[in-house]
Amino acid sequence: MFSKVLIANRGEIALRILRACKELGIQTVAVHSTIDENAMHVKLADESVCIGPNPATESYLNIPSILAACEITGAEAVHPGYGFLSENARFARILEEHKISFIGPSAEHISIMGDKIEAKNTALKLGIPCVPGSDGAVNSESEAKKIAKEIGYPVLVKAASGGGGRGMKLAMNEKELDTALATARSEAKAAFGHDAVYLEKYLLKPRHIEVQIIGDGKGNGVHLGTRDCSLQRRHQKIWEEALAPSLSVEETNKIGEICAKAVRKLKYSGAGTFEFLYENGEFYFIEMNTRLQVEHPVSERITNIDIVYEQIRVAAGEELSIKQNEVTFWGHAIEVRINAEDPETFMPSPGLIKHYHPAGGVGVRVDAAVYQGYKIPPFYDSLIGKLIVHGRTRNEAIMRLRRALDEFVVDGVKTTLPLFQRLIEEPEIISGDYDIHWLEKYLANKE
Ligand code: ADP
Repeated sequence: MFSKVLIANRGEIALRILRACKELGIQTVAVHSTIDENAMHVKLADESVCIGPNPATESYLNIPSILAACEITGAEAVHPGYGFLSENARFARILEEHKISFIGPSAEHISIMGDKIEAKNTALKLGIPCVPGSDGAVNSESEAKKIAKEIGYPVLVKAASGGGGRGMKLAMNEKELDTALATARSEAKAAFGHDAVYLEKYLLKPRHIEVQIIGDGKGNGVHLGTRDCSLQRRHQKIWEEALAPSLSVEETNKIGEICAKAVRKLKYSGAGTFEFLYENGEFYFIEMNTRLQVEHPVSERITNIDIVYEQIRVAAGEELSIKQNEVTFWGHAIEVRINAEDPETFMPSPGLIKHYHPAGGVGVRVDAAVYQGYKIPPFYDSLIGKLIVHGRTRNEAIMRLRRALDEFVVDGVKTTLPLFQRLIEEPEIISGDYDIHWLEKYLANKE
C-alpha cells in the first residue's frame, strides 16, 4: 500500500479523496493554485504545495508543477479526481515514466475510451450495444448524408474527442446536416484540437443510464449497479439516482453483467462508468468515463462500498476486495449538485459565503468543501458541494431530500438549492417519470 498520495485536484472531490486516504492511514499531499491557499483540501492535508497561479492551465493542469510537487514531497501515487488531468493519457504515461503510480486505469485504456469512435468500436467488439450511427468518422458531406438517410433523421453529429456536451450538434433533416457538420467540426477543433466527427441516431425520449464498474487490472471486475442521470441542463447532470428507477432487477443485472464482463476482458484497472441511453427497453452505449465520477456517492450509498478505497487498493497492485456476488443493492439514493449559480439564469455566483449550514440527520451525506467565511473563487467549476440522501425506498429518499433541502443554508452567494426545492414538488420528478429532455423543457416553460 502507498504511504503518501498526492491529490491533483481541488474542491469537494479533493476532500473526498483525502478522507479515504486518511482512513487508510495514507499521508496526503494537497496541491493548490495561489487563490486556493485557504481551501479546505489544503487545510486538511498533511502537506501542501502551491503549483501555480489561478488559471487551471497554469496550476491544476500544469504537469511539470505537479511532478515537481511529487518529487519534493516524496508522494508515490497521484489521485487525479475528476476533470482536470483525470482522463489525460499523457499525464498517466508521464507519471509511469517517473515511477509514480496513477490512481486510475492504464494510459492505453484512457486513450482508447477518450476517443469516442475507438470507444464505440471497442464496445461493439465486447458485445455492448451501441447507438446506430456511422461506422467511424465521416469524411465528407455526401458520406454523412448517405449514412443519415440510412439511420433516419434526426441525427446527432458528435466530435470523436468531445466532452461536456461540446462538439455535439443536432440535425433534424438533410438541410440542417451541412451546418451541423461544420459547426461540430469547428467547435471540436477549437476545444480539443481535433475535428474528427461521427454520426449517431438522435434518440427522442431516452433516459441516461450508466453502470459503475471497478476492475483490478488482473481480470477481476465488478459492477455496482446503475445510476439514472437524465436530469441534465446543457448536457450537464444536476440530479442523479441509484439504482436507475426505470429498470427491472433483471435489466439491471443484465446490463451490469455485460459491463463487468467487458472490464474483466479488458483487464481494466480502477473505477469507470459505462454510459448508455435507454429507450423502449433497449440500451445504447454512448461513452465510457475512465475515472471517478461526480455522482459516485449514490452507488456507494446503496452498495456500502467505498469506491475510492478500491481505486487506491487496485492502483497499489492489490486485488479487488469484493466479488460480484457480495455486491448487494440496498434502498435508494439521490444526489443533487449544489452549484454556486443563479438558480434561474445559471450564471456563476462566486464570492463570500456569509453563512453555511449543511443538512444532516438520518440518511444524509454532504460532500462539500466550503465553510462559513470561505470565498468561492471565480476561476473554476461552480460545483461547491453535493447533497446525497438515502432511504429504504425511492419515496423515502424523496421525503428525506425535501427535508434536507429545507435545512440546507448557504448565504452570501446564489446556489441551485432553490431549483431542487421546486423540482421536488413536480409530479413527474416524484414519480420518476422523466427523460433527458425533461429539465430543459421544464426550464423553458418557466421563463
Ligand atoms: P459528452 O462526453 O460531451 O458529455 P455524451 O456522448 O456523454 O457527450 O452525451 C452527453 C449527453 O448528450 C447525453 O447524456 C444525452 O443527454 C445526450 N446525447 C448523447 N448522444 C445522444 C443521442 N444519440 N441521442 C440523444 N441524445 C444524446
